[in-house]
Amino acid sequence: MRTRLRVAFAALIRCPMGRTGSRKRKEESAELTFHSRPLAFAPMPSTAIEKLRAAVRDVPDFPKKGIVFKDITPILNDPVLFRASIDLFLDRCRSLQIDRIVGIDARGFLFGSAVAYELGLGFVPIRKRGKLPYKTELAKYSLEYGEAEMEMHVDAITAGERIVLVDDLLATGGTSAAAAVLIRKVGGHLLEAQFLIELEFLQGRKRIEPTPVTSFLKY
Ligand code: AMP
Repeated sequence: MRTRLRVAFAALIRCPMGRTGSRKRKEESAELTFHSRPLAFAPMPSTAIEKLRAAVRDVPDFPKKGIVFKDITPILNDPVLFRASIDLFLDRCRSLQIDRIVGIDARGFLFGSAVAYELGLGFVPIRKRGKLPYKTELAKYSLEYGEAEMEMHVDAITAGERIVLVDDLLATGGTSAAAAVLIRKVGGHLLEAQFLIELEFLQGRKRIEPTPVTSFLKY
């Protein structure tokens, strides 16, 4: 559904006019187009999990032989499912008092930044080593399929801030545990780690607890 609303407004634009420096008041009108939420975007609490689960695509032997990669791009690709996935995080976050959302490179950015935007909070990226331009804290971590290092800007979090960590998937927990180290190094208080997907059989949450861990699609 689309609502078109013509808004005429007198904008007080103070603009220097040539060398005399005289100013004039400029009247402008603008046509703004608002998109109200289609019904298709209404919450679907009872079936959201099943629909999201059905959309996750298993890709065998990616990026290494023996790894079954959980591909979330079909969720991102579908506007209803993408919104439903963000809504899961939002429903959980609304019961918490949060100062900032931290997302992990790279798929954590897709979910974390949308959550931060909707909650009106700042977003902090944790990036793979060498990508952040300013002074950083560094942490090493191990993946289900390799080793890596990641960084966070030293001034991204103010000491005492209440943080929620967001990523697409919890596997062995090495990435999130290292992210938790970075958050604490700069004085952040990690309230909770949230994941769209959890590979429960890898028991990654044990590396994050006693910090609470929330996941929505469990395998
Ligand atoms: P881990 O440190 O083992 O918990 O790995 C979590 C990170 O690696 C997340 O940022 C995921 O995006 C990625 N990851 C690990 N295993 C998989 C998998 N099987 N499918 C998709 N992403 C994965």
